[in-house]
Amino acid sequence: MRIAILSANPNLYSTRRLVEAAQLRDHEVLVVDHLKCHVMIEGGKPSVLYEGQPLEHIDAIIPRIGASVTDYGCAIVRQFEMMKVFTTAKSQAITRSRNKLRSLQVLSKAGVGLPKTVFANHPKNGDINQLIKLVGGPPVVIKLLEGTQGIGVVLAETTKAAKSTIEAFYGLKKHVLVQEYIAEAKGADIRALVVGNQVVGAIRRQGVDGEFRSNLHRGGNAVPIQLTAEEEDTAINAARALGLKVAGVDMLPSDRGPLLLEVNSSPGLEGIETATGIDVAAEIVTYIEERIPADESDTVGV
Ligand code: ADP
Repeated sequence: MRIAILSANPNLYSTRRLVEAAQLRDHEVLVVDHLKCHVMIEGGKPSVLYEGQPLEHIDAIIPRIGASVTDYGCAIVRQFEMMKVFTTAKSQAITRSRNKLRSLQVLSKAGVGLPKTVFANHPKNGDINQLIKLVGGPPVVIKLLEGTQGIGVVLAETTKAAKSTIEAFYGLKKHVLVQEYIAEAKGADIRALVVGNQVVGAIRRQGVDGEFRSNLHRGGNAVPIQLTAEEEDTAINAARALGLKVAGVDMLPSDRGPLLLEVNSSPGLEGIETATGIDVAAEIVTYIEERIPADESDTVGV
């Protein structure tokens, strides 16, 4: 097969591992910087130009689109979809997963367990109190709609702190979610790597002392874990609901079962491969092999 990895940086761990895994299985691999691709629109003949040349005979793409270039990256992924190229993440699914509110709306409809969350458009003073009450009162977690790596996620212990944080974000013209704080998680969360219809590996991430955010980018550490059947089902359902075939699903353990935080469409492989020793890159390539030729009945985003 001829596989294109859409990645702005060939030196990133995940990109390198995917190249390695595909080559080991005798596939031809190209690392294509989506930011250097052009979309060519012409009746009946959609194509993608890379450095001026059309990208042809690609069997599959693996999008690794950074959060800061979601729109442009997704336009390129969409063009490959128009060319009927198999993708491990459809453009529509990537766009959905990048917006915390939109993801939670889709997940809630799919019946996935979620922390109680509210969203409101620039509420007035009195309404802010109401928002905080709606999720059970302080402590509450306040999240920027499009934050990543734990940046823009704030724990407010009191109504006073929550109000001033919400006001500060609104003052900056940013939309936020207000969410109940899951204290039982004790600064830890679970990341499950879903490929196709199964979880291929899972880790428990624990934040550094005194930190409620467990993101590895915030200094958290990771240990391999075996998921409960409920956690596994939650991860698989969440990825399916968002339409992602490869996904990093983040959940909080709670007294009422796993609660979904977020689904990542370009999950990093380093943390999970290092902690578990599982060759996730090979799992992704094997999954592509099984799905090619592409399923003609799968018309999402086409
Ligand atoms: P990001 O997309 O920036 O990583 P998350 O919503 O995943 O944002 O939050 C970052 C981290 O903060 C999570 O991994 C988790 O450890 C912690 N966290 C987030 N929401 C809650 C919550 N409602 N209750 C307790 N901890 C939370």
